[in-house]
Amino acid sequence: MNVTILPKPPRVGLVSLGCPKALVDSERIMTKLRADGYDMSPDYAGADVVLVNTCGFLDSAKEESLEAIGEAIAENGRVVVTGCLGKEADVIRARFPDVLAVTGPQQYEEVVAAVHEAAPPIPSPFIDLVPEAGLKLTPRHYSYVKISEGCNHRCAFCIIPSIRGDLVSRRPDAILREAEKLVAAGTKELLVISQDTSAYGVDIRHKEWPWKGEPVRAHMTDLARELGKLGAWVRLHYVYPYPHVDNVIPLMAEGLVLPYLDIPFQHASPKILRAMRRPANDAKVLERIRKWREQVPDLAIRSSFVVGFPGETEEDFSYLLAWLEEARLDRVGAFKFEAVAGAPATTMDDQVPEDVKQERYEAVMALSARISAEKLAVKVGSTIEVLIDRVDEPESPSPLEGEGGAEHRERGHFDAPPSEHQHSIGATGRSKADAPEIDGEVHLRDSGGLKPGDIVQVRIEDSDEHDLFGVPL
Ligand code: SF4
Repeated sequence: MNVTILPKPPRVGLVSLGCPKALVDSERIMTKLRADGYDMSPDYAGADVVLVNTCGFLDSAKEESLEAIGEAIAENGRVVVTGCLGKEADVIRARFPDVLAVTGPQQYEEVVAAVHEAAPPIPSPFIDLVPEAGLKLTPRHYSYVKISEGCNHRCAFCIIPSIRGDLVSRRPDAILREAEKLVAAGTKELLVISQDTSAYGVDIRHKEWPWKGEPVRAHMTDLARELGKLGAWVRLHYVYPYPHVDNVIPLMAEGLVLPYLDIPFQHASPKILRAMRRPANDAKVLERIRKWREQVPDLAIRSSFVVGFPGETEEDFSYLLAWLEEARLDRVGAFKFEAVAGAPATTMDDQVPEDVKQERYEAVMALSARISAEKLAVKVGSTIEVLIDRVDEPESPSPLEGEGGAEHRERGHFDAPPSEHQHSIGATGRSKADAPEIDGEVHLRDSGGLKPGDIVQVRIEDSDEHDLFGVPL
């Protein structure tokens, strides 16, 4: 018998920073590299080359990305940089002249070519092929599905369009095929992401494509409905309150899409929203929220807000607090305005002093924490569905911590001390109202027989400012 001894495949280490969209980019790159015969290395020491997928959204994220590049160079030395900060190749090269290559966001071919050059693949017909659903960096039971790249808006505090370009939507049939494979491979929750989910298909004039014998428009409503038929939870992120968003609410009422909307309102004051150049800046948002809740009483709304935007007066800020009090959103993340090089807001007059930003940030977080605690307390005694994320020791980290996940939690979360309940966690999951990494969790005191990806009925026994505590039935 002839035995072929294959040489060891080259190994790639990955440091993935930034938002879920960057995570999806990392997954695509690693899927392609895996198809080309590369292995992944869990540490710097075992890697033939380290790929750093960077974030360039805020100056603090840029600094974090630069630090990650520095660490990879110090620990390994052979580093390829990609992602949003890759747009600023001169900044990276000035600080780290030894990086092997720098590529920008969505330059999949370029980054893969750079890895090939740094650590050439071994041509072999025996190489393991990629699993049907591609390589995933999120746990198998939930998956991010990116439906478009880029953005047609020009919000005054944001440089994403200059980094990622204008909106480019994917074909709906391609998205649905990918989602179907993910579900077949064990995904229980599909998280729809983009820069602006409500704008999906605008660039391709909502053209129709055939899917399972029927035409499907490249439109958020059609896509959400078809995704909902695949049998997994479907969660919509980055939805702007355009009028047609009203049309996905019935899909939630039907149970096709989770009763969850992640809408980045960013502010409430009409004056500040205008200055921010926000899309779908509709003064009647509160009225619409009320109508949505009439149709879907358990609708959970998550949003983020920027405090201390240039020109934000005490009056504007009081308006925001009063709006939040009335809107009673389920999940709120607040950010202090950060002047980003290249964003129009950076050079606007009337910049708000840091101590005022801090005070306003704390006021929003305190108010939101109180509202959240009140809303969660109402759930005590009820029975809800929970998707199990981990069955683990109480101290174990969340699935993405160490790769940017901790940062996401910290930024999107309330500043609350760890709960006393966390000593007795048997399993941890999420309700339909909780997206991974950014929202709350449901802690089960009894993990008996459960495994990640299970969906169980849980009786809620207790709550705090952002989490629920219960026992599986
Ligand atoms: S909608 Fe505004 S904040 Fe969001 S990516 Fe587009 S320009 Fe940036």
